[in-house]
Amino acid sequence: MIRAIVVGAAGRMGGRIIHTLHEAEGIEVSGAVERPDHPFLNRDIGEVVGGGEIGVPLEGDIERVIEAGDVVIDFTNPEVSLRSLEVASESGAALVVGSTGFTPQQMEKVAHLAKKIRCVLSPNMSVGVNLMFKLAGEVARILGDEYDVEILEAHHRFKKDSPSGTAMKLGEVVASALNRDFSQVGIFERKGVIGERKPQEIGMQAVRAGDIVGDHTVIFGGLGERLELTHRAHSRDNFARGAVRAAKWVITQPNGVYDMGDVLGLK
Ligand code: NAD
Repeated sequence: MIRAIVVGAAGRMGGRIIHTLHEAEGIEVSGAVERPDHPFLNRDIGEVVGGGEIGVPLEGDIERVIEAGDVVIDFTNPEVSLRSLEVASESGAALVVGSTGFTPQQMEKVAHLAKKIRCVLSPNMSVGVNLMFKLAGEVARILGDEYDVEILEAHHRFKKDSPSGTAMKLGEVVASALNRDFSQVGIFERKGVIGERKPQEIGMQAVRAGDIVGDHTVIFGGLGERLELTHRAHSRDNFARGAVRAAKWVITQPNGVYDMGDVLGLK
């Protein structure tokens, strides 16, 4: 039985991951971690997330439970996830990191740890979105520079980073397929009399409203037609199922930092 520690266990994603692990075969919850001032510390995590007792108390520090885990599943924020990566690199536990919003400097730290850890890090764990990454690159390569690329995303009002990590990755995939540097051609704001769109631009638009789980669209706009690739997440369970699938996969891999494309065999 694979033993999984969930960091951010009482969060929106953490709760769905606890439920998914509880129902999954061959893997179980062995630890649950939250921020040190969380009001539900020491309570049973099964109860905290609205299910029955599972005999795992909510802890306020990953170091207190790390020895009880073969794999850590962390959906929190980049700072917390970096600490989980460091702690797991000492204990030998594998990791699945779903947090989004890593800065280039934080990604360098992750890359630095890559020799010491087995980790799946992906801004979106859904099967459909990861297929969309592949398709968006292929479509961009086929359509080439004649088609304008615009990326739209919509999320719930509580989301903290913008644009979403998924939208950023779509931008990078398309830019790379078109031999462009996304940091140079990504346009994140348009306001006022800004003139005509430049052909190389990749426009990024973010909507925040209500409880939208996560929509992403890539528009390839030509003269006389457009092609749109759209993915809509209906619930967080598809991300949670992807995370559990990644956890089972990563513990059998050699050290390195992987993404969901590796887990799903899409490369
Ligand atoms: P959330 O705010 O509901 O949950 C985050 C949890 O982390 C909170 O419960 C918070 O208390 C906890 N936390 C904060 N500091 C902590 C610490 N020091 N130790 C342990 N826990 C701590 O947010 P969410 O909607 O669950 O999203 C979490 C992250 O996952 C975000 O970065 C989001 O963008 C990302 N996300 C990724 C995917 C994916 O498929 N990769 C899908 C959805 C969300």
